Amino acid sequence: MREPLADHTTLRLGGPANSFITHTDPADWADIARAACEPKQPRLILGGGSNIIATDAGFPGMVVRMATRGITARALQQGQVEVTVEAGEPLSSLVDFALTEGLSGVEYLVGIPGTTGAAPIQNTGAYGQQISDTLTSITAYDWSTHRIVRIPASECGFGYRISSFKRHPGRFTILTTTLHLRRASQAAPVTYQLLADVLNVPLGTRPPLAEAAVAVATDRQARGLTLPSSGPDARQVGSVFLNPTVNEHQAAHVRAYGGPLHYDARGEARVSAGWLLQHVGYAPGCRLAEGIYCSTQRTLTVVARGSVTSENYLGILYRLSREVEQATGIQMHLEPTTRTRKRPAAR
Ligand SMILES: Cc1cc2nc3c(=O)[nH]c(=O)nc-3n(C[C@H](O)[C@H](O)[C@H](O)COP(=O)(O)OP(=O)(O)OC[C@H]3O[C@@H](n4cnc5c(N)ncnc54)[C@H](O)[C@@H]3O)c2cc1C
Repeated sequence: MREPLADHTTLRLGGPANSFITHTDPADWADIARAACEPKQPRLILGGGSNIIATDAGFPGMVVRMATRGITARALQQGQVEVTVEAGEPLSSLVDFALTEGLSGVEYLVGIPGTTGAAPIQNTGAYGQQISDTLTSITAYDWSTHRIVRIPASECGFGYRISSFKRHPGRFTILTTTLHLRRASQAAPVTYQLLADVLNVPLGTRPPLAEAAVAVATDRQARGLTLPSSGPDARQVGSVFLNPTVNEHQAAHVRAYGGPLHYDARGEARVSAGWLLQHVGYAPGCRLAEGIYCSTQRTLTVVARGSVTSENYLGILYRLSREVEQATGIQMHLEPTTRTRKRPAAR
């Protein structure tokens, strides 16, 4: 029987893959790469399936689920520790490892589902920290040369929830990630106002490592940013839209309605996608269509319940982005990867 992708995605949507292989032993990679090339067929690389909307038709080629495990650490100079992680290792295991070993650099990524190998794809991050802050290089299989290559972080094209891997998908499969963490009893400086408020400290403070991670985990729980194993919000991909950048005119509109704007180091303004959805009338818990709802705690998390199709689910997301664009002129972009029809033009 062909493997349903719904069994491997947190939305539990997606039809069968033509062929499906789980990669567990790094030594087997050459065989898997060969199998994925012969006969020539499309490939889809899957981690934890927490940031992907798979099509109802499934996938007409080979799906490789990355499930290799392993974390190794090597002390460098001046309290730096080089940590290398297999692609299939859950990001949560890396965070646990760092906290247990007293290493700072990934503590604010606590509670994010998915694998470490997928984290560089969208430069996964939260609470002012992102994987690119400490990632120094990756090893990847280059499908165009059929070689394993080491790519330094400086060549990964990292930005806000983006990398060159996401811009040009398909060429590289990440096999390992290497990070430089710092031996410290204190966390990285707090740069995110919400976290500063939660911890009741000024921006720039370095709270104790464990305290910082507990504060983030507790706040994620309270704000519906965790993946429940059951219940009404169990089928989701987290935030469905990125926080869009806005021009001065759009920023003025947001300001006029009291919306929050965040400025990055280059002075570029972003507006909260969740606020935009609320601005056009949506709220946590609201029904968007049969079996499709905003999560009970967050407008920006859209959950599936019952027998929903990915086509219906995506249709709702496109409808939401059209409504926001019509009301504000601001274009929202999907955060999860999709392999379906293109976004219909705004009417
Ligand atoms: C409750 C919840 C909360 C979340 N919170 C956050 C958050 O705070 N911040 C954030 O950034 N994200 C968040 N996410 C999104 C998601 O968890 C992350 O983006 C995560 O890094 C995706 O990992 P994954 O293994 O599930 O990737 P998948 O969904 O399996 O894959 C995502 C993309 O990466 C590609 N890919 C996966 N592995 C590899 C590999 N080894 N090599 C090459 N390509 C690969 C896939 O083809 C796909 O395009 C959240 C999701 C949920 C459900």
